[in-house]
Amino acid sequence: MLITAELLLSYQRCKRQTFLDIYGDAKARDAPSELLLKLQQERSAHRQTVLSQQNYHQPNYPKGDWNAAAKATLALMQQGVERIYKGVLLAPLGGELGELGREENSFLSEDVMLLSRPDLLIRQPGQSILGDWMYLPAQIELGKRPKLEYQIVAAYNAQVLAEVQGVIPQTASLMLRTKRSKEVNVLKDVACGRPAGIPVRPEASSGSCVDDVKCYVVHLTKWMPQMQQVLENCIQTIQSLQAPEVFITRQRCSLCRWYSSCYTLAKSQQHLSLLPGVTPSRYTQLQALNLTSIKSLANSSPAQLEPVFGSKVAQHLVLQAQSILHQQPILSSPSFPSSLLSPSFPIELYFDIEAEPDLNLDYLLGVLVVDRSRKTETFHSLMAERPQDEELIWQKFLDLVWQYPLAPIFHFCSYEVDTVKRLAKLYHTPKDQVQPLMNRFVDLYEHLTQTVVLPVESYALKSIARWIGFDWHNPQANGSQCIYWYDQWLKTGDRTFLDAIQRYNEDDCRATYLVKDWLMDFVQNLDNRYLV
Ligand code: SF4
Repeated sequence: MLITAELLLSYQRCKRQTFLDIYGDAKARDAPSELLLKLQQERSAHRQTVLSQQNYHQPNYPKGDWNAAAKATLALMQQGVERIYKGVLLAPLGGELGELGREENSFLSEDVMLLSRPDLLIRQPGQSILGDWMYLPAQIELGKRPKLEYQIVAAYNAQVLAEVQGVIPQTASLMLRTKRSKEVNVLKDVACGRPAGIPVRPEASSGSCVDDVKCYVVHLTKWMPQMQQVLENCIQTIQSLQAPEVFITRQRCSLCRWYSSCYTLAKSQQHLSLLPGVTPSRYTQLQALNLTSIKSLANSSPAQLEPVFGSKVAQHLVLQAQSILHQQPILSSPSFPSSLLSPSFPIELYFDIEAEPDLNLDYLLGVLVVDRSRKTETFHSLMAERPQDEELIWQKFLDLVWQYPLAPIFHFCSYEVDTVKRLAKLYHTPKDQVQPLMNRFVDLYEHLTQTVVLPVESYALKSIARWIGFDWHNPQANGSQCIYWYDQWLKTGDRTFLDAIQRYNEDDCRATYLVKDWLMDFVQNLDNRYLV
């Protein structure tokens, strides 16, 4: 069995993903999404920029021949070259220095080889079987924070390196992006002109490696034991030949290429992970209560769940299961959203933003103006075609919303309000232009989730509006896709990308409008069936 850092990385995100990566039918995988491709391109660009000012050697070997690759890498290490890019390290599990596998390898049913391909091997002073030098591993990562999973992979690379050079490095390096820009311009040295891998200050764990690259030092004594545990669990999962249970979470599954097959399975099992509010830890607690299906949860009493979850969550979980089981909305709170019902305004604004987080940019402020008395709907797409036009569209937005000084501004979730505050601060907007707006914002998400439980898998705008019957012009479009499209617009100047974003943003505003009308109608026409 061959274990790689990539497997270990995917294992930390989802055990099932690791299993499917090895045993799954490759044809069942989804095509990579545009966002995934964008991330891959950005990672590659980041890597190239970091490497562009490095002198390094690269082992030469026939593609996929790991034994030849490991030999070629070792030859460079024996020569004592300063840096090796894409070196390949190969060692058996439970070698001379490995903690794992010496005495505790009873779980192993076959020989396990560890394969490591650190982005860089950087020469350091020290004693090893190579001579009076040794290497430490460095990873170039797209993230801006030294995530746990990066540090585990760094420890894994260090472990395999230790087997090859006969000594465990004290530290490993992570070369991360800074928060300032997505473009990485300069890198004087992986360790900022000081010996590679040495922190800026002895007590510090990170330092700015010149402008847009941040070098983070991974202290291996801290991370080795955790890595060993992850490695052991990962090997056991692979050897068990039993696919880990599916568990759909939007955050980790949205970029996974097994999503369609996992979702289909979860749907066929009516898996509780499809119920909003059921997190992995709550799922474990529900299993302990023997509530493992939507039906059993729907038929349970909140009192049964209360000691574990508290009354609010207990009530919500049961109502959510009932709503899905009976495919009906259920009123969950007697306090109706009065701000929606009265007074009624002839003009309403529906507001939605598209942003590019990497550039810290809100490039599209979309506003749908609904004039109920004249029966008109006018969409305003305030687009920053260049990032530097953000201030311009902000001013246009203020001009527009002040044309209707009494109109409520409906939006979905808090992002819009947070952004208005951010833009006002950034562009020094006078308080008297911004403060009155704050009283006009109506967060529909908040009102809706406090009022009603819906038979949906998520309380995202898309999920709710689709349940009501709204169709987006492009069913595949989403916020992440818009980030990719905007990026493509900046790179290519192709206006079809801008058109697609504007269409999507208008649909979001119209979906918000529909949800608001549905909620009003639901609350005004309640019958007893919906009351708890
Ligand atoms: S879709 Fe989700 S559950 Fe399935 S393998 Fe991917 S991350 Fe795991």
